[in-house]
Amino acid sequence: MLLDELESEGLIVNFNKLPETLSKHLPKEVLIWDETLRDGEQTPGTTLLIDEKIEIAKMMDDMGVHIIDVGFPAVSESEREVVRRIAAEGFTNASICAPARAIRSDIDASIQAGAEEVPIFIATSSLHLKYKLKKNWQEISEIVTDCIEYAKSHGVIVNFVTEDTSRTSIANTVDIFKTAAEAGADRVVIADTVGFLRPESMRYLVSQVRDRLWKETKRKIPLSVHCHNDFGLATANTLAAIEEGVVAPHVCIAGFGERAGNAPLEEVVMALEILYNIKTGIDTTKIQELADLTSQYFAILLPIHKAITGENAFSHEAGIHVHGILSHRLCYEPIPAESVGRQTEFYMGKGTGSGLVRTKLQQVGIEATEEQVHQIVLQVKETHQLRNKREMLLQLQRAQELLRETRLGLKEDEFWGIVRAVTGQQPGKP
Ligand code: MN
Repeated sequence: MLLDELESEGLIVNFNKLPETLSKHLPKEVLIWDETLRDGEQTPGTTLLIDEKIEIAKMMDDMGVHIIDVGFPAVSESEREVVRRIAAEGFTNASICAPARAIRSDIDASIQAGAEEVPIFIATSSLHLKYKLKKNWQEISEIVTDCIEYAKSHGVIVNFVTEDTSRTSIANTVDIFKTAAEAGADRVVIADTVGFLRPESMRYLVSQVRDRLWKETKRKIPLSVHCHNDFGLATANTLAAIEEGVVAPHVCIAGFGERAGNAPLEEVVMALEILYNIKTGIDTTKIQELADLTSQYFAILLPIHKAITGENAFSHEAGIHVHGILSHRLCYEPIPAESVGRQTEFYMGKGTGSGLVRTKLQQVGIEATEEQVHQIVLQVKETHQLRNKREMLLQLQRAQELLRETRLGLKEDEFWGIVRAVTGQQPGKP
């Protein structure tokens, strides 16, 4: 690869390979666990058709995703149908997982739909126990044992997920994970449900849980992590967790998910491959295709400056950068765009310099003098700057309104229409 050549020729220094920057707990192999079809679909305003879910899941399987969470069977008949249809596909690489609350009927729904893996989840922070579950710790422990033993007796892989792990005491987390491990859980999942950790506190949490749990159970139960992006730290926290030995990170393509979303698949995978030298088994050249397909079916645009999959991630306008790239593309790009199924693109505008103009002219066989090139550059800059800014902003506003309408769930009047039809009453003032 281009990058390795630059390194071996001594043209760049790669601090990521220095032993002192690599944690001794880094795993050799990582299983990519995708949550796009479950947590991703919980992105407000989105809904996927069954065929769309199947197509996305197939693409994930093709590119080597190891575990795909395809939907929550207890929620609805259509979710059960999705899981059944995807499970019937007989995937090559991916195992199909469908979550369940720690309730036997939820577990039944997941198993009957054909899931190979069932993540059983229950919240463990005192906040959730007091206000949401209204249960004490003893009750929670009994439920966990019962549900995991029940699911295991049906022969599925059981992942035990503690919701809000990142705001639960380490003692309680270790205690409940130990209960889960003893009941037969195959993996335990640490969830930073509201994106509350920073990388160093994630490392602390994971290392404490890992050391105590493995010691107390005399078994190295594999650890997984589920990170949210509320502070923009989902990727950093996921990687921090992997540095402490987590082997099954949850991701969503393009970082879709509730609120600010989940750790983006493309960021976690490419960071592992390029910055950590850990093979993920993912065909990274399919990343953009997966992001585009999901964006289309979610009817949500990818953020333009999104790392790796955003439109601008491999685009350049500034003359100095374009000149650098035209001399050697890795002057201003960390990886070749093709490695994620992209192409380097150049924008013409205020920042354009003569290098790009000369290259473009050469490509189509136009000969121009230095003075002509200079004139062309000046006019390109001018044309960009003379654009009617007011008109552009108005257009942007109209596009934003349209997009908002596209992705809204029910409008208020639609909701009150349903209420009127069902109750026969007119709503008063709230
Ligand atoms: Mn989540």
